[in-house]
Amino acid sequence: MIAGSCHCGKVEFQISKEPQWLVSCNCSICRRVGALWAHLPADQVSVVAPKNGTIEYIQGDRMLAIHSCINCGCTTHWTSLSSEPAATMAVNFHMCDQADIAKFRVRRFDGADSWRFLDGESSEV
Ligand SMILES: [Zn+2]
Repeated sequence: MIAGSCHCGKVEFQISKEPQWLVSCNCSICRRVGALWAHLPADQVSVVAPKNGTIEYIQGDRMLAIHSCINCGCTTHWTSLSSEPAATMAVNFHMCDQADIAKFRVRRFDGADSWRFLDGESSEV
């Protein structure tokens, strides 16, 4: 079990499955928020936040909503806007302890252009 929270602590998450790796993506939104994503099935993640405690930013192709704490502004997670119950979501590992971040390999993903990992390995996210 790994937990994370925004800076003020109003938005917290726990994951019950470890990610294979963490993803640093260079797309227009990820590079701006500086997120370090762990992608997981939505049923392996629990997010605890006050009602209306996050801003949901929905961009471009409207595939996902990026959540940030309404109080301290930290980007904590994104959720799929698909209706599939087992959809993937992601939490921002920069909300976790440094020791937890250090456990995982970080892979750079070229979300801005080729939609592939820049290490040349599998493009599966
Ligand atoms: Zn906060």
